Amino acid sequence: MLAALTMGSGARAADLSPDNPFAKPSALPFELPPFDRIHDQDYAPAFKAGMALQLAEIANIAGNPEPATFDNTVVAMERSGELLNRVNLAFSNLISANSDDALLTLETDITPKLAAHEDEIYLNAKLFARIDALYDQRDRLQLDPESRQLLERYHIDFLRAGARLGAAEQRKLRRLNQQIAALTTKFRQNVLKAGSSGAIVVDDVAQLDGLSPEQLSSAAAAARERKLPGHWLIALQNTTTQPWLAQLKNRALRERIYRASIERARGGKYDNTVVITRLVRARAERARLLGYASYAAYALEDQTAQDPAAAEKLLQQIGDAALRAARRDAAELQQLAGFAPQPWDWQYYAEQLRRQRYDFDDARIKPYFELNRVIEDGVFYAAHELYGLNFRERHDLPVYEPDVRVFEVSDADGSPLALFLGDYYARDGKQGGAWMDNFVNQSTLLGQKAVVANHLNFPKPEPGEPTLLSFDDVIALFHEFGHALHGMLSNVRYPYLSGTSVPNDFVEYPSQFNEMWAREPAVVAHFARHYQTGEPLPAALLEQVIASQQFDEGFRALEYVEAALTDLAIHQLPAEGVPAADQLLAFESTALKTRGLDYAPIPPRYHFPYFLHIFSNDYAARYYSYLWSEVLARDTGAWIHAHGGLTRANGEVLRAKILSRGRSEEPQLLFRDFYGGPPDVGPLIEYRRLQ
Ligand SMILES: [Zn+2]
Repeated sequence: MLAALTMGSGARAADLSPDNPFAKPSALPFELPPFDRIHDQDYAPAFKAGMALQLAEIANIAGNPEPATFDNTVVAMERSGELLNRVNLAFSNLISANSDDALLTLETDITPKLAAHEDEIYLNAKLFARIDALYDQRDRLQLDPESRQLLERYHIDFLRAGARLGAAEQRKLRRLNQQIAALTTKFRQNVLKAGSSGAIVVDDVAQLDGLSPEQLSSAAAAARERKLPGHWLIALQNTTTQPWLAQLKNRALRERIYRASIERARGGKYDNTVVITRLVRARAERARLLGYASYAAYALEDQTAQDPAAAEKLLQQIGDAALRAARRDAAELQQLAGFAPQPWDWQYYAEQLRRQRYDFDDARIKPYFELNRVIEDGVFYAAHELYGLNFRERHDLPVYEPDVRVFEVSDADGSPLALFLGDYYARDGKQGGAWMDNFVNQSTLLGQKAVVANHLNFPKPEPGEPTLLSFDDVIALFHEFGHALHGMLSNVRYPYLSGTSVPNDFVEYPSQFNEMWAREPAVVAHFARHYQTGEPLPAALLEQVIASQQFDEGFRALEYVEAALTDLAIHQLPAEGVPAADQLLAFESTALKTRGLDYAPIPPRYHFPYFLHIFSNDYAARYYSYLWSEVLARDTGAWIHAHGGLTRANGEVLRAKILSRGRSEEPQLLFRDFYGGPPDVGPLIEYRRLQ
């Protein structure tokens, strides 16, 4: 019955050449994409056929003359779009990991088409009528919990897309969507242009005292690129605080850089303040149209926090602790500086203090952190001890780049679990930073096991030389592998609910939890050995490394909380209450004052005019979510320690209750069931030494 439904009657995959590498499921183990057969020109026809095929499948489901059943509607939707999914997962992965001009051009072309494709599905009235009918009968359908969850997810997705609205309201919604899309693009472009026009030009090298020779030559090169030979250019980073403030001795220059940073996109040619007021108003109107009290209520309904008040409460608790820690640190900085530190002084004196206290340099640590040893004897070892996983490297499978390593992952009983791809080195065409991605999502309905990848950007050493890591790099490896575990240990039926398909404020939980093993003595002793002598990392040195990492956490936590609170504050306003463009900054500071968290030396990590997460990316009203996830992660770490640490028994509990569950149940309920109560900020405050 279901197989018949998945064969669309109108458009067929027949339009796609059978030689196209996406035409059929991959015959490779775990359906690993056949990278050796994929060429740039294969994507566009596969996308086109994949969208046509899915729309035909959806038309079949929506037009089915039989009354709606869970199988002929919801399960049928889960089975639809397999071709599109195959090409889209490979493409979206490789556009970040291994892109070229042809892929970037295709991305510009395909992104709006994919958005329109989604609208076709979610604004299909006949399809929604079937989902809605099933939802109304949900108590009588005798669904297992995961199936019920799937039905509820689909239903809410349709509602949030506006399926319930009348024709005139849907027109208004589409108009607002377009307006919002245009404003977010405008915002991003203004940030880029204002950032680059705000770069600081220095004409006397003496002012740059404190920078390293490498930084000086890169600043000189940046100036030459702007046709300013003989000058030095300091580019602005996205955040309020600029990294070079930690090193520059010249106080006047520090202040100049700081002011350039905070004045970005505030007035002038690339002004964002007007864009923001229009955007926040449009979002508020959109939320009201869909029946929500505010945009924040709309954005958080679907998250673990569920409503803005819960997120604010957590931020307030951590913010209060962070402010106390920051005031203590400020007193020490003032003693060192001889005056009260201003925002442009903080990082400089904090760095002086850090050097006084933790007198070691990275060069002493790095020989103990050799990449391969950290992966196999650290990251894989912890996963073996906790979850019983075994890893076997395979050299017989195609990869998209020769440096990528492939590991077959098996369970304690030897049964195959997943494929893990480790893509560790920086190269042209690879996006910066570190991330995890899926090539295949686990689903028992589709008989698929996970294929996941970790991407990092370590500089590749000369042939024959080891790859030596900093402690931050080691933490990044554990972090990304925590995401990988969330994908690989997934054991759910429906692809929609698989692995990392969880809310923003939950998705960074397994990854931040897994970080803890990077500093756990039982694990560190196993991987941190000198790459030449095999000598273990001295315990005192490890302690210093960790303490230096926790140094200045008051600053980092407070600047984050401030930004997250202003985000929640502005997105709770009704459309009529949005301040005028010239009142936005006053609004920010009032929001912090009323919460007792305005502290002049530590400004928000982002001021509104350059806060890309919330005015351009997908984090509007949800910037809090990184910290929320971290609370869950630290609570879990405390639970593990209270139950005996690195043991199979603890790993099994976590696997059964969290890591295998994807979104088969609402994540806040999964957490409560595991932890035995609501999230508690205590362990995070301790982990970050904010108490
Ligand atoms: Zn992450």
